[in-house]
Amino acid sequence: MQTIQNAIGGKLVTSTSSRTQPVFNPATGEAIATLPLSSVDEINAAVAAAKKALPAWAATTPMKRARVMFKFKELLEKHADELAEHISREHGKVHDDALGELARGIDCVDFACGIPQLLKGEFSRNVGPNIDSYSDRQPLGVVAGITPFNFPAMVPMWMYPLAIACGNTFVLKPSERDPSAPMFAWQLLMDAGLPDGVLNVVHGDKEAVDTILDHPDIKAVSFVGSTPIAEYVYRRGTQAGKRVQALGGAKNHMIVLPDADMDQAADALMGAGYGSAGERCMAISVAVPVGDKTADALIARLKPRVEALKIGPATDKDAQMGPIVSKAQRDKIVGYIDSGVEAGAELVVDGRGFKLQGYENGFFVGGTLFDHVKPDMKIYREEIFGPVLSVVRAQSYQDAVDLIHGHEYANGTAIFTRDGDAARDFADKIEVGMVGINVPIPVPVAYHSFGGWKRSIFGDHGIYGPEGVHFYTRLKTVTTRWPAGIKSGAEFTFPSMK
Ligand code: NAD
Repeated sequence: MQTIQNAIGGKLVTSTSSRTQPVFNPATGEAIATLPLSSVDEINAAVAAAKKALPAWAATTPMKRARVMFKFKELLEKHADELAEHISREHGKVHDDALGELARGIDCVDFACGIPQLLKGEFSRNVGPNIDSYSDRQPLGVVAGITPFNFPAMVPMWMYPLAIACGNTFVLKPSERDPSAPMFAWQLLMDAGLPDGVLNVVHGDKEAVDTILDHPDIKAVSFVGSTPIAEYVYRRGTQAGKRVQALGGAKNHMIVLPDADMDQAADALMGAGYGSAGERCMAISVAVPVGDKTADALIARLKPRVEALKIGPATDKDAQMGPIVSKAQRDKIVGYIDSGVEAGAELVVDGRGFKLQGYENGFFVGGTLFDHVKPDMKIYREEIFGPVLSVVRAQSYQDAVDLIHGHEYANGTAIFTRDGDAARDFADKIEVGMVGINVPIPVPVAYHSFGGWKRSIFGDHGIYGPEGVHFYTRLKTVTTRWPAGIKSGAEFTFPSMK
């Protein structure tokens, strides 16, 4: 069986840690690789390699750093199918979905290629007599990224291309469950000409994360994962004096107003609710039709669509949705469905018994649809992270908005309507970070920035795009004057530029 290696100081290194865990193919249930849970010494070695590479990389011109990113982008495009296969084999998502994830990651590399322009800064001549001033953004130093299983290529690419382009060096701790895609991408970046030690990848669990959070040589941490861990990472990292952005979980609602095109709304809910088996932080997990007539019309369209979902391994070209990432996560989802039934929600389509011939040991759950879900039910309050869509019926637009405002998460949301006034009011007033108007998964493009509100994020910066440039740099403002402009004699009043 393959052993996953760490990448430290430009080399692949076999871990000597005695702690390991298997990596599974979720479609077959087979263990396909062994992942090391790296020791404190190994994490320290990665940080030391990043620290060693820092001075030369920070001094490399932004144009040269951008050229490495250009080459990286070319290599990612050339090897997209291979990379997608790594994603699918360990995550389970279907090939086209893996390619889609990769495309959004490549967009972030594209954005990082513009780094000379993004770091240009501002200049003011004559801010006082013979005095000029300029502001620019300088790298922080060694920074780290800790990422979740659900986008093993894209989420790391929300972080390291931009961080590196800004002149930082990086330590990535990817998810334990699907480590091969970030390792493959690391190799491509090395092939693109990245100097040794600028990007290091180390595998591990809580011990690795805690070592990163406490390490005095790491200046900032980007985290993406579940809310309890995001909050923990934010608190521990900031306590250690670091800049931290920690993006957490979600429960994304989609309001359907009575004037919406019901077929379009149902199709949107299918893709947003069941694509990637619901394992997306921007998945729609709650549909909120306004009025019983709208709800009945929506359920009538959703039921046959959910029953007809094509579920299979990523190698099946016709599959629309793959397995769940792990047995534990599959069992947790089944537990949620049980709890919804016990709480009295109406189970319209039950995915619990789903079996696929030839893949009996795979971690599959069928598409599941609940109607008449109430806000106090566990299936509504908690993030299920599986192919389970809950319909909560609202009696008015305001009830639907109040429902969203009552939830602790506020990552993304959408409204389907033809009413411009309602759509504008929604975009204006809804207290959620990313909003779609007739767009079910409003993930911002790479030159905007991504981030939820409330308990979907901890920290002050969104991730990637302009917010990412701000997160990975610090502002310096220089005020200059030359001897010809200096009057003789000491000045004891506060400089007021008069
Ligand atoms: P997770 O929180 O279990 O793991 C994320 C990372 O934290 C992993 O690298 C893991 O090794 C580490 N980790 C896990 N337990 C830890 C602990 N006790 N102490 C320290 N580190 C720990 O998340 P996951 O299951 O891999 O991913 C799914 C979650 O990520 C969902 O909640 C989803 O909504 C969220 N997510 C959010 C976004 C976003 O942008 N807001 C994007 C993708 C995923």
